Amino acid sequence: MSNANQPISRDSVEQDQFLSTLSREDALARFEAALFPRAVPSEPRALADALGYALAEDIVAPIDVPPFDRANVDGFAVRSADVAAASVARPVRVLLNDEVIACGTAPVRPVLSGTVTSIATGGPVPRGADAVIMVEHTQPVGHRAIEIRRAASPGQFISYAGSDIARGEALLRAGTLIGSREIGMLAACGIAQVSVARRPRVAVISTGDELVQPGEMLRPAAIYDTNGAIVTAAVSENGGEAVFLGAVPDDEEELEAEMRAALQTCDMLVLSGGTSKGAGDLSHRIIARLGQPGMIAHGIALKPGKPLCLAVCDGKPVVILPGFPTSAMFTFHDMIVPVLRRIAGLPPRSDAKVTAKVPVRIASELGRTEFVMVSLVEGADGLIAYPSGKGSGAITSFAQADGFLKIDALADQLPAHSEAEVTLFTPHVRVPDLVIVGSHCTGLDLVTAPLARAGLMVRSIAVGSLGGLAAARRGECDLAPIHLFDEATESYNAPFLMAGLELVPGWRRMQGIVFRSGDTRFEGVSAEGAVRAALADASCIMVNRNQGAGTRILIDRLLGEARPDGYWNQPRSHNAVAAAVAQHRADWGMTIAPVAHAAGLGFIPLAEEHYDFALVTARKQRPAVQAFLQALASEEGRAALQQAGFRKA
Ligand code: AMP
Ligand code: MG
Repeated sequence: MSNANQPISRDSVEQDQFLSTLSREDALARFEAALFPRAVPSEPRALADALGYALAEDIVAPIDVPPFDRANVDGFAVRSADVAAASVARPVRVLLNDEVIACGTAPVRPVLSGTVTSIATGGPVPRGADAVIMVEHTQPVGHRAIEIRRAASPGQFISYAGSDIARGEALLRAGTLIGSREIGMLAACGIAQVSVARRPRVAVISTGDELVQPGEMLRPAAIYDTNGAIVTAAVSENGGEAVFLGAVPDDEEELEAEMRAALQTCDMLVLSGGTSKGAGDLSHRIIARLGQPGMIAHGIALKPGKPLCLAVCDGKPVVILPGFPTSAMFTFHDMIVPVLRRIAGLPPRSDAKVTAKVPVRIASELGRTEFVMVSLVEGADGLIAYPSGKGSGAITSFAQADGFLKIDALADQLPAHSEAEVTLFTPHVRVPDLVIVGSHCTGLDLVTAPLARAGLMVRSIAVGSLGGLAAARRGECDLAPIHLFDEATESYNAPFLMAGLELVPGWRRMQGIVFRSGDTRFEGVSAEGAVRAALADASCIMVNRNQGAGTRILIDRLLGEARPDGYWNQPRSHNAVAAAVAQHRADWGMTIAPVAHAAGLGFIPLAEEHYDFALVTARKQRPAVQAFLQALASEEGRAALQQAGFRKA
């Protein structure tokens, strides 16, 4: 029997994977070694067109700014020694020179002792003068003389030549991003054209048969191409000129043709997707044919983001980002942005990092650099970073996320209360005015709408009721929305409050059985009847809720000991239940009325759930909290909730 026919032992497969996986640091070092040093190509640009580009060379000031000693006020150029004793009680009389120095007028007469020259703001100080007296502190005496009523120290109200910018001084360094301030500095020195780094052209390609471009109809089982838009924008934000080439199906020939075409006209190529097993070999194979040295790192010890590929083909970086949008974001910002900026002649992005305290422990896999998405809120002493959405496929937490932190490969956790460096997705921290941490409800958006219109930024972080209570107890949020049922007292929420928290009644959400309209097993019957009908039909599939959800308690009560097909399908949200029924993956489940109605499903009401707020008493007087309480109590708020199917408490 030949070796080739022998099954590969499990050990050797695992070892293979282990050997081909590089650490984040190793992978980055090899990638950079293959790309740098390299010259940054530059191009000349007129000042007016240079905004947003990076300077390609240091700029040395060619002149002094101001170019001469300049008066800062309207008044008289004097010799300070002449007026050293002047005061209102003892004014000093001096002769007026026969000259008025306006802006743009070069003086011709010197200021001799006992004389002064009239000068306007911005005028050049004449020979002999060493100070300027404000016109307010003088009094004309005929039209040949004035009285001075205030003393002047040498240099008073004079900007000396070169005091803004000194000739020969390094004005701006290569790599500086040109903004309005830099344009002003260059203009003040009379520089009309600068050499800027040419923006590298970065081709962006998404891969996957399932991808549809935003704006087009979503076919069944298809998803919108998120990475294309994200990467295109992030390339532009970091000094590249993005060239989006659309989504390419998982077809070797077609993909290779697109990649070759892209590399013809662009300086860099960023793909996403197709990096999972099987399909991954496809891009791997293509890259091997595209140029030298080819693949640098395929499989990196990142979580999420292991399938990231780094390659260099004839000097051009070729990157394949993981398909999941959040994984693509992490790896792009962490590993690709530094390289892109260096190619673009930009310095590392220091403005996009902040330090924050992490209030909770985050477990992490040993051996992989782990990325954790965070939302930032302002704490009593500095920023607090809230971890959110750990699943690599979750884009849910994306909207509320400000950036991410990294947990080192050698750590198995980030202990609670650690300081961490947060890489921002956008280089501005948006500190919210109102922080709501707890269970999410679509009604919340209705109530906070007037706050957003008033310019208040509301941040709501969905961590579930218990997570919200914990955050409220630590004082990390203003309000924790909760819907917790206490079986002992058969009541909602109040039994769960702790010291320092008070209950603000929110609204009621009718829970009930959801089914596809027209299903005769459920149409027109009671909730108990519906469950009896479902249990009587072996082909009927249910969708459950997660352990700990208030809704789950209701379901379990209805089911008793029964465990029908679908019982173990336990999604974590009201919306997922409705989606499962609408898409025929299940026939019934329990959700809230607004969600059932929004999905166009039939609904049998069962019991009202209380959705209330645990308010942190210490933060009650904050303006945004007051605005929230007002919005909640307002007629507009009540009407909006009712319209959406909620009942104001
Ligand atoms: P892949 O690496 O192609 O196997 O993709 C992994 C996951 O990411 C799959 O669920 C893909 O549907 C998803 N995915 C890949 N590319 C994109 C994209 N451009 N936008 C959104 N999701 C994507
Ligand atoms: Mg794919």
